[in-house]
Amino acid sequence: MKAGPPHVAMLATPGMGHLIPLAELAKRLAARRGATATLITFASAASATQRAFLASLPPSVAARALPPVDLSDLPRDAAIETLMTAECARSLPAIAAVLAELGETARLVAFVVDQFGMEAFNAARDAGVTAARCLFMPMNLHALSLVLHLPELAASVPREFRDLAEPVRLPGCVPIPGPDIISPLQDRSNPSYAVMVNLAVRCREAAAAILVNSFDAVEPEAAEALRHPAEPGWPPVYPVGPLILQSESGGTGADVDGTPPRAACLEWLDRQPARSVVYVSFGSGGALPKEQMHELALGLERSGQRFLWVVRSPSDDEGTLNGNYYDAESKKDPFAYLPEGFVERTKEVGLLVPSWAPQTQVLAHGATGGFLTHCGWNSTLESLVHGVPMVAWPLFAEQRLNAVMLSEGAGAAIRLPETKDKESIAAVVRELVEGEGKGAMVRAKVAQLQKAAAEGLREGGAATTALDEVMDKWEAEAN
Ligand code: UDP
Repeated sequence: MKAGPPHVAMLATPGMGHLIPLAELAKRLAARRGATATLITFASAASATQRAFLASLPPSVAARALPPVDLSDLPRDAAIETLMTAECARSLPAIAAVLAELGETARLVAFVVDQFGMEAFNAARDAGVTAARCLFMPMNLHALSLVLHLPELAASVPREFRDLAEPVRLPGCVPIPGPDIISPLQDRSNPSYAVMVNLAVRCREAAAAILVNSFDAVEPEAAEALRHPAEPGWPPVYPVGPLILQSESGGTGADVDGTPPRAACLEWLDRQPARSVVYVSFGSGGALPKEQMHELALGLERSGQRFLWVVRSPSDDEGTLNGNYYDAESKKDPFAYLPEGFVERTKEVGLLVPSWAPQTQVLAHGATGGFLTHCGWNSTLESLVHGVPMVAWPLFAEQRLNAVMLSEGAGAAIRLPETKDKESIAAVVRELVEGEGKGAMVRAKVAQLQKAAAEGLREGGAATTALDEVMDKWEAEAN
């Protein structure tokens, strides 16, 4: 048995939404048990944003980039899920080499992968690494339930999910209307469907434990159902969240893109009244089609509320969503697509930021009173941790599922109607910030969830206890 602190190898498939919470997990493991970690990343994800983020990590978290692999034979319009799993499968020899080296040089107690990296458990086997193999779900417990039940659903649902008359009912979950089931499952003829079903089978069989970036208060019945799974032999589930990006210097330090302290948008927020500004962002990869971007601009203007909008050039001019997913920078001037006169008319109440904002600092700011979000799970957790109520405008991946859970289950968001016209956008945004009906209920619920999230992360709290249990298990198995 090697001496030294426990070491955890972590494989992050492309996307800041995978990398950020895994890095936060590594930091928490270091803080609780003095563990060290190596974050293994893929060549396709080596954007400037990612490089700056990795460079900002503390010495307890090392980074290793895998060499590039050829993906040019995959169709240009291949789904993100297909690209990520293919890159992982083709990188197995390189992953095995990194794991073998870590096994030689460190006391490797666990190998943690996210949901698109499960193929890499084979690399651990090839490298002769026996450390505990764990899945980290950067999504929530509803999404995990769907994944775990997917093999039966795939066999029993006779048609496309979007055509189902009745919602999908899973133990402890809010009923999920067919069109809100995650996007890679919406077309059975697309290879991404088989990719997801295969991952579902693998995560039931291959993972020793599943760590989930969620917490009981936000989806209590789902948490309870997963603690007592329908089938014996499913991996134990540990809700260890919320794990969100923490600025090293308490909210004033550099963010993931290396933004210098006090970015201009934070200075602008300093000059706005408390809880008055709606922050508008669609995550690291989301962009709207031109027409919706137009409606959003006019809707914000009509709402009469203050806003801070991270603007990207529209999806129908940027090529594929995947292009944005791998690199958050807009290729074209995003402001050129806004309605004529909009910038001038709203300059007293609105601030536009191109491509990227220091989001956690924006959400932590006292002037921020709402978040119009694509419901990416990291953005959602960041909003809850900072007590910011949400308007849900989901785009792709599992975002529609998150929107259902947040609006129908947790009561932490108001979902926009499908029309997404300027009138409904204006009405919902206004209701969220100052409404006395639904808006007031959502604001009160989010305040409760903020408290519950903080309690879970304290000494003796649910997330901390779950993480300790996982570490005890890893250590016991390694000895
Ligand atoms: N993010 C940010 N600034 C931006 C857009 C996104 O800092 O302008 C961060 C955000 O705080 C979150 C992550 O990028 O941590 C996005 O993850 P999420 O799961 O919300 O969405 P995804 O990008 O995976 O769709």
